[in-house]
Amino acid sequence: MNAELEPGLYIVATPIGNLGDLSPRAAHVLANAAIIAVEDSRVTAVLLRHIGVKRPMTPYHDHNAEGVRPGLIARMATEAVALVSDAGTPLISDPGYKLVRDARAAGHNVVTVPGPCAAIAALTLAGLPTDRFLYLGFLPPKAQARAAAVAEVAAVRATLVLYESGPRLAATLAALAQGLGEREAAVTREITKRFEEAVTGTLGELAARYADAPPRGEIVIVVAPPGEAAPASQDDAEAALVEALQRLPMAKAVSEVAKKLGVDRKALYARALEMKG
Ligand code: SAM
Repeated sequence: MNAELEPGLYIVATPIGNLGDLSPRAAHVLANAAIIAVEDSRVTAVLLRHIGVKRPMTPYHDHNAEGVRPGLIARMATEAVALVSDAGTPLISDPGYKLVRDARAAGHNVVTVPGPCAAIAALTLAGLPTDRFLYLGFLPPKAQARAAAVAEVAAVRATLVLYESGPRLAATLAALAQGLGEREAAVTREITKRFEEAVTGTLGELAARYADAPPRGEIVIVVAPPGEAAPASQDDAEAALVEALQRLPMAKAVSEVAKKLGVDRKALYARALEMKG
């Protein structure tokens, strides 16, 4: 690899846990950049120490980006400027897209050094369809906004990928179960780290599992597309119907349960009439 880097902006993906996942090309760019724009210099310092490199760093994060961007853009005319985030691929639920936009507008070279990304790694672990997927990042933390965000994607025929934290996992899974129905899903955690795991089940099962036991560490939720739902048993359908009939008039209850569990509406209506009788 040539030690000289052309001037421009280098978007460098870094490990999401296992430092061995830093690519040789990423290490080369970090070792030879004039400056590295970082989210947190303490985090990137660990990575640089790991590869035995010392380079100047400058903070670039949500709170200072507007102010420091013009200076970074100016430097790219004559120097190689690298951008990293704390972990994974910059710009993916991390700062950077405006830096790329402005670098391009200024006519600078923009180079990507791809590598780890938690969303993609989670898709490879979940065992759910990967031909079409929709990355949702983090859902809003407030219940109403979260429910609205889930409703917005309920009809999308793609696997959904979401980032989440341990303390909010159960509430998010419950909101997904409520808005999407009983789809198959996976909770992937601590990917590439010592306690990496992927727990699979329906959204309701996973919500119940984590309700009283919020897990530690970093999490990606992967949800199957509509139509990939686990077939609901007759018992599941009856239990859901009994519950819905306590809240809703019969037609609405039948419609809600049929949609949620993907069961036959006519048969469910007949069963509701029987129950009423
Ligand atoms: N840019 C990063 C990427 O490429 O994945 C994501 C940054 S985002 C601020 C951080 C979130 O990514 C975490 O809250 C978690 O949802 C997910 N994440 C990062 N590392 C992870 C890991 N090792 N295992 C599971 N999820 C991870």
